[in-house]
Amino acid sequence: MLTRSAKYAIKALAYLARRPEGGAPVRIGDIAREEKIPQKFLERILLQLNRDGILYSRRGPEGGYGLARPANTIMLGDLIRRIDGPLAPIPCVSVTAYRPCPDCGDESSCGLRLVMKEVRDAMANILDQTSLADMQKRSDAVKGALAETRPTAVKPAHARKPRRSNPTS
Ligand code: SF4
Repeated sequence: MLTRSAKYAIKALAYLARRPEGGAPVRIGDIAREEKIPQKFLERILLQLNRDGILYSRRGPEGGYGLARPANTIMLGDLIRRIDGPLAPIPCVSVTAYRPCPDCGDESSCGLRLVMKEVRDAMANILDQTSLADMQKRSDAVKGALAETRPTAVKPAHARKPRRSNPTS
């Protein structure tokens, strides 16, 4: 399961990805307020992403954070591994952090391992091929579709202007 840190990291980066390219860096307080993330928590996450080269930072009164790379090159799988560690639900199916358990009998026929490997592979297939930009496109598409299906608001009768009677009729 995604930790709160990974969820906040993705939300903060998605917020930065929605900003105009080449625009000014965004203050951490603004990101925290807009995305409803506790600021202290966010500071730690953004520092790490800055160290990892995902974000750039600028100091000073006009300072803040911005994406150091285009949003279509920042993959969700990479982000989650940086914050949470391996995607695998158990270490014996991890590609990046393989570890057997001490009571392991026959790894190749272990049913739990066979199922968890499928889970790991399915997650990696999706998350390693989905960028921040792809995620945003999906969200925009759903918002657009919802806006089209939403009925246009009809004013209640008391809010409508009374019709004027025609004095010549
Ligand atoms: S193969 Fe089965 S017993 Fe061995 S480490 Fe994996 S889950 Fe545990």
